[in-house]
Amino acid sequence: MSVGSLIMEPMIVECPRHEGNFDCTPFCNVCEGEQEYEYTETIPCRDCSTPVDHDIWFEELEMCVDCSNKFYTHEDEEEE
Ligand SMILES: [Zn+2]
Ligand SMILES: [Zn+2]
Repeated sequence: MSVGSLIMEPMIVECPRHEGNFDCTPFCNVCEGEQEYEYTETIPCRDCSTPVDHDIWFEELEMCVDCSNKFYTHEDEEEE
């Protein structure tokens, strides 16, 4: 990693929704079918609209941790 330059250009990242398996449709609320989107530091949870740290949001597929836990609550796996 090099230091010394501020990142001023938008960073384009791959949409978390298609995960290499499915292409997004124009109805994807993340990338609108572009398969990629502009990185922003926080993104609103698709469920409760709370701003979520991008990495978390990405990991949890557009949700905050709380909503993700609720969403997957039917899986009877213990959390770590
Ligand atoms: Zn998408
Ligand atoms: Zn949420």
